Amino acid sequence: MASVCIEEHILDVVDYPKPGIVFKDISPLLADHAAFTATVDALAAVGRAADGAVVVDKVLGMEARGFILAAPVALALGVGFVPVRKAGKLPRDVHATTYALEYGEATLELHTDAVAPGERVLLVDDVLATGGTLDASRRLVEQCGGTVAGVAVLMELGFLPGRTTLGDLPVTSLLTV
Ligand code: AMP
Repeated sequence: MASVCIEEHILDVVDYPKPGIVFKDISPLLADHAAFTATVDALAAVGRAADGAVVVDKVLGMEARGFILAAPVALALGVGFVPVRKAGKLPRDVHATTYALEYGEATLELHTDAVAPGERVLLVDDVLATGGTLDASRRLVEQCGGTVAGVAVLMELGFLPGRTTLGDLPVTSLLTV
């Protein structure tokens, strides 16, 4: 496949959802087969060793745009997909964790049996900003007895402390803006 410039397919939406925020809209990327394929392939590579062997047991995606990227990454790696959801959306027993937002807080949940003890999990999301969402997801995996092997994101906002929040967790970002 010819090389694809992923960045060309991401739109900046100024002052959305509130003044001062530049929202990174990945809809055009998802609508472009070549760009979407290149993105999924690059994110899936994070779940492989240098020899191509798959080194994760599950791929976990965060509601909502994380689902869109994590599910095809799981299929590409030949492993299962696990959704982390906002409070009250999962129907069975859950682990829950609450984390701080700029204003207020949010709760994320994971089915207690979504990750088996000892499983290695790859976290996938579209944007790494403050790191709160991915850090909360890491805690949920650990509550199940699993381990986060790494984080793969389409882009990170380099002016925010996402990597610091995630500490020693290996983070791969396809773009830094
Ligand atoms: P954070 O927890 O601060 O790292 O924020 C990451 C989550 O919020 C991801 O699930 C993103 O989908 C979303 N997010 C944060 N900032 C942006 C942004 N500027 N544009 C689009 N999505 C964002």
